[in-house]
Amino acid sequence: MSRLGLVIDIDACVGCQACATACKEWNGASLMAGGAPDYDPHGDAPSGVWFNRVRHYEAGHYPLSKTMNVPMSCMHCEDADCVTVCPTGASYKRAEDGIVLVDPEKCMGCNYCAWACPYGARELDEDKGVMRKCTLCVDRIYDAALPEAERQPACVLACPTHARHFGDFDDPASKVSTLSAERDGRPLFEKLGYKPVNRYLPPRATPEVAVPATLAPRGTLQSRLAAMVNRLVRL
Ligand code: SF4
Ligand code: SF4
Ligand code: SF4
Repeated sequence: MSRLGLVIDIDACVGCQACATACKEWNGASLMAGGAPDYDPHGDAPSGVWFNRVRHYEAGHYPLSKTMNVPMSCMHCEDADCVTVCPTGASYKRAEDGIVLVDPEKCMGCNYCAWACPYGARELDEDKGVMRKCTLCVDRIYDAALPEAERQPACVLACPTHARHFGDFDDPASKVSTLSAERDGRPLFEKLGYKPVNRYLPPRATPEVAVPATLAPRGTLQSRLAAMVNRLVRL
């Protein structure tokens, strides 16, 4: 028994989308995930199924703003409404490792689960009329034919800044547990009560911006700007 999930370090994420594209590449060909189709990819309104989407937010006010990149995929919630609302039993959470999956044979594409998910983690495969979502690369992580270091989700392996970590939150010695404990790992939208397993490491406190006192005497525009920057980098 385990509780598998991801830790994402907001400080380290540069928003490069490598995780999202690696996910799409692996799961596009995966029998387990069922595919991640694109619609009208070269047309005026391209769209498609993505299990992992990197959202970008601007914190502070331009020009002294800071971009926050927040990759989001299924949180493999412990109390997941996407499972309880499913009328056919297609949506389920595995007892052995907590991974939330969809059985395509039972799914009728009604979209109830997507409406129930507050994280936008489910996307309908319009070609096949079946719901798709992150499987935590269940067909990689248990594949004994792969070297042990590669038995990880595609997004984790692809991340160039090591912002993503995978492991068992029920093991207090695992990397995800220790990182979460050391860096105050937090679930997203905890108040909704879904008990998401994935954790986000908030930005670290950054040192004060070094503006020499001689260049920034109190009361000047420069000192006010320095104070603003110092507040900003602490976001
Ligand atoms: S993130 Fe959404 S799809 Fe994933 S388990 Fe939670 S409610 Fe379900
Ligand atoms: S779309 Fe499929 S998995 Fe989602 S609620 Fe409907 S039947 Fe269940
Ligand atoms: S690959 Fe890593 S750095 Fe790039 S967007 Fe994904 S989590 Fe962020």
